[in-house]
Amino acid sequence: MRAAIIGGTGVYGMQVDSRVERVSTPFGTVEVDLCRFGDKEIVFLARHGRKHSTPPHLINFRANMRALKELDVKYIYATGAVGSCNERFNPGEIVLLKDFIDFTKQRPVTFYDGKEGVIHASMADPYCKNLRELFWQEAQKEGLKVAGEAVYVCTEGPRFETAAEIKMYSRLGGDVVGMTNVPEVVLAKELGMCYAAVGIITNWCTGMGREVELEEIMAAVESNKTNLTNLFVKILLHAELAQNNCQCSKALMKL
Ligand SMILES: [Zn+2]
Repeated sequence: MRAAIIGGTGVYGMQVDSRVERVSTPFGTVEVDLCRFGDKEIVFLARHGRKHSTPPHLINFRANMRALKELDVKYIYATGAVGSCNERFNPGEIVLLKDFIDFTKQRPVTFYDGKEGVIHASMADPYCKNLRELFWQEAQKEGLKVAGEAVYVCTEGPRFETAAEIKMYSRLGGDVVGMTNVPEVVLAKELGMCYAAVGIITNWCTGMGREVELEEIMAAVESNKTNLTNLFVKILLHAELAQNNCQCSKALMKL
């Protein structure tokens, strides 16, 4: 069994001993870093590629998640840069994702296209309950401030949202907006893997205040990424990880 960290915008690797591994999947080949911590390894995957070369709507999510499965990964923490459409959550802060609303349009959303029968994945707890609890506990211990739990709205991108769209997302119960967490979280569930994600708030959404400046986005990510990945590593290496207290390994229903 292994654990993995998926790095979103601005989080492209970890400063430890690592080797590159290329994993073949039916959906394409994926490059990951196998990062060494004593006698243990954590898989690191840069969601957009090492040089941030893949835009959100073209990320090969199925290849990424299948590659992690091939590497025997069972537990995943991910980061993602998000905009805030909730005045309680400010740029520069981090939030733990608790649920999502899907506004993507044209991405492959499942591994199950009917060959194995009709299969539905439960989204009662899209983000693993155990990994979320462990994150809260460790963040508190380490003094890492988490602004709260957030509902993530996933848009198709790569364009940013209009002010009218943001108003709608906010009224529907969305707190933060990004372009990559769906279908990643769904595919993890389809593969029986525990998955949790943290949003790094880089900007206010359109119409919520000032327009977004690239330097500000990167500065917000920069100030959070090391603390965040260190915390993930600590949990993944030292916590008692198990699937007996969450629904992640039994979320599929076959009709
Ligand atoms: Zn789980």
